[in-house]
Amino acid sequence: MKARFPIPLLTVLILSIPAAFLLTSCDARQEPAAAAFGETAAYRDAALPTQERVADLLSLMTLQEKAAQTAQVARDYLNNPGDLRTYGIGSLLSGGGSVPRSNTPEGWADMIDSYQKRALESRLAIPILYAADAVHGHNNLVGATIFPHNIGLGAAGDEELVERIARATALETVATGVHWNFAPCAAVPRDERWGRTYEGFSEDTELTARLTAAAVRGYQGGGPGTPGFLLATVKHFVADGGTAGGVDQGDFTGSAAELREIHLPPYRAAIDAGAGSIMPSFSSWRGNKVHGSRELLTDLLRTEMGFSGLVVSDWAAVRQLPGDASDQILAAFEAGVDMFMLPDGHEQFIRQTVELVEDGRMAEAVLDRAVRRILTVKFDMGLFENPMADRSSTGTIGSPAHRELAREAVRRSAVLLKNDGEVLPLEDGIRIGVAGARADDLGSQCGGWTITWQGKTGDITEGTTVLEALMERLGADKVEYSESGDFNVPVDIVIAVVGETPYAEFEGDRESLALPDSDIQLIDRLAAGPAPLVTLLISGRPMIVTDELELSDAFLALWLPGTEGAGVADILAGTPPTGRLPHSWPASMDQVPVNDGDRQEPLFPLGYGLSW
Ligand code: BGC
Ligand code: BGC
Repeated sequence: MKARFPIPLLTVLILSIPAAFLLTSCDARQEPAAAAFGETAAYRDAALPTQERVADLLSLMTLQEKAAQTAQVARDYLNNPGDLRTYGIGSLLSGGGSVPRSNTPEGWADMIDSYQKRALESRLAIPILYAADAVHGHNNLVGATIFPHNIGLGAAGDEELVERIARATALETVATGVHWNFAPCAAVPRDERWGRTYEGFSEDTELTARLTAAAVRGYQGGGPGTPGFLLATVKHFVADGGTAGGVDQGDFTGSAAELREIHLPPYRAAIDAGAGSIMPSFSSWRGNKVHGSRELLTDLLRTEMGFSGLVVSDWAAVRQLPGDASDQILAAFEAGVDMFMLPDGHEQFIRQTVELVEDGRMAEAVLDRAVRRILTVKFDMGLFENPMADRSSTGTIGSPAHRELAREAVRRSAVLLKNDGEVLPLEDGIRIGVAGARADDLGSQCGGWTITWQGKTGDITEGTTVLEALMERLGADKVEYSESGDFNVPVDIVIAVVGETPYAEFEGDRESLALPDSDIQLIDRLAAGPAPLVTLLISGRPMIVTDELELSDAFLALWLPGTEGAGVADILAGTPPTGRLPHSWPASMDQVPVNDGDRQEPLFPLGYGLSW
């Protein structure tokens, strides 16, 4: 688990008593009569320009209300939902796997609407923004369409496909009441040991920039205020994929030129595409955390690149800054953070922020600037007029059309690395033996960030495994499955499905990218048998498979394809593969990191991919 700087319960209790007094007294001092904010207040007038509405509302807010507006609380840490009304909290989020009791579209929309109702009962009735990570479809929701993770879309390499997928994701997500997506990930992963490699499209900057912009266009559709608009967050600014050793949340030690050439261009493309928000990276640049870097978050992002949207901190990332809690909050505000993904302890955060201004340590203008950006987004999105979930696209969730799109993406993301003797495509009528634990494992196909934060093996949601798809496609009587590859009858071809178990973030950092021993032994055994061997790799990154490739007659990299295994069967049964490697493929661990343009000779270069 991530370090959370636990505060002993007793301290919280003791601190919260005077805090409660302080907050009420400060309210009593500043709060004019509630009646003044009826229908007639200028900020409620949808006919006025956003900036006039923002200015009016800001002029009516107490310090405490301003501080609360910059707080984003994780819903599972919001012990008292009444705090939405009491404080006027700006935003809530569902972290990975944080789902309503009933994990259905209605369950989500009802939950978010009920939070929204409380927020609208706050003194100024400012609606909340509700956020989630829909990074490959609305992946916390059971029954949603799960698309390939970005690395697979990098292999497909088609911005039009990415845009359609993001649009489909937006429709499925918005229907459940979520306004704000923590996607797309614009990382340019340069070291496959990094556990988030699969969240990025490619090691290639130009490809990543094109696909990132396409994803932004897809999520945001017709723009703020139009139906089906999902506020996009480009993350994690910047060089999250460039940390030394591929260590998650680590340090990017490269030069400014390297930062600008390799890691920055996707942000330029995303800003041009109208990206509404950006999330700083947990990582550091030359020892300085990005969340506290005015150089990166203001001088570069705002002044030089012209970004005018919202900067939302990553999960408790501000607590990784030097100093005590107040120092941390101050540093982040001054660096350019607008909204704080806390995710817990909002009372303290609000109190400490108010105190920073009251004690003269932070100019109120700094807080105002953040609040102004948050309110601008809310007004532009039409949240004051339409705060409740627009459930009109509920019917698209996991719909045949969206699953068909995901299947197309699966088909187009598979990369053929070897096909000796033209083993593939499979000939009609032959008997197939399928082996390997991943063959019938929806959870492994989906990877991390699916239903739970880390993801899980097994039947985690609705979808089709590779095995099910092959049986459906070739006839159940033609396909025999044995996890260990001990088939009852002779088979003409053996298909081994091997790879990684699901992981997310730092839990996926690895020193070795070898296959699990059980997979290596399986391939050894199957290769010794009489039937030609086709190996399918399910993984979030290139792995060290030099020996296994040698032993296989054909080899396909499937990445993390998601719920639609039928796309894999399409390829095996005949559709010519078109996927191209989004990463240089290392021959051994000694080569890692290996990237296009450095002086190494990888096993396969960036852009490699066979067909028939
Ligand atoms: C993740 C959240 C997740 C939480 C679980 C965080 O680090 O980013 O999405 O819900 O951990 O504890
Ligand atoms: C991750 C972010 C994610 C956030 C909320 C963090 O741990 O780094 O990518 O958006 O959690 O789940």
